Amino acid sequence: MHLWLKPEQAQELAAYARAAQPNECCGVILGRGEAVEQVVPIPNVASEPKYNYHMDEKALLKVLYEAEHKQREVIGFYHSHPRTEPIPSPTDTKLANYPDAAYMIVGLRNGEARLAAWSIKRSQVAPIKLIISADKPVVETAQLTIVQKRAIIASAIIAFIFMLVLSLSLLPPAPIIPLH
Ligand SMILES: [Zn+2]
Repeated sequence: MHLWLKPEQAQELAAYARAAQPNECCGVILGRGEAVEQVVPIPNVASEPKYNYHMDEKALLKVLYEAEHKQREVIGFYHSHPRTEPIPSPTDTKLANYPDAAYMIVGLRNGEARLAAWSIKRSQVAPIKLIISADKPVVETAQLTIVQKRAIIASAIIAFIFMLVLSLSLLPPAPIIPLH
């Protein structure tokens, strides 16, 4: 299984995570199949939002209702780790109630945004490959075997950095000064 995110959506997630610092942010990931179409922030109403997240239930229900209306699937959920890597904590694993959902985490260790997605089934954590690309990716037929968590995160980091480099290179060129 993989998830396809557009560079704008990855940037949006990083921006939400940064804006929420020192607290965790959280929200819902909507889309179709493997394609993420929208990331929707939900207020974090945890009693200790620096160390945990709990989605405001009223806001969550509203988003789920609207998703149903727009025929979008709930692909999964996201939250941020303001100081650490995007790896599920024991609490994240314990509270993951949706075996079919993708749990995306934005890690802000040392201030760098890193993105990773996980499937958590009955406390079994497995990485989900994240593809950050403007165009629909060509999916290889080979099944993703057991890949180390670090490798998956590394590829997401590389994609993220590549995207930042790309967005910088898309800046308009310096104005041409005419010489007389
Ligand atoms: Zn967490």
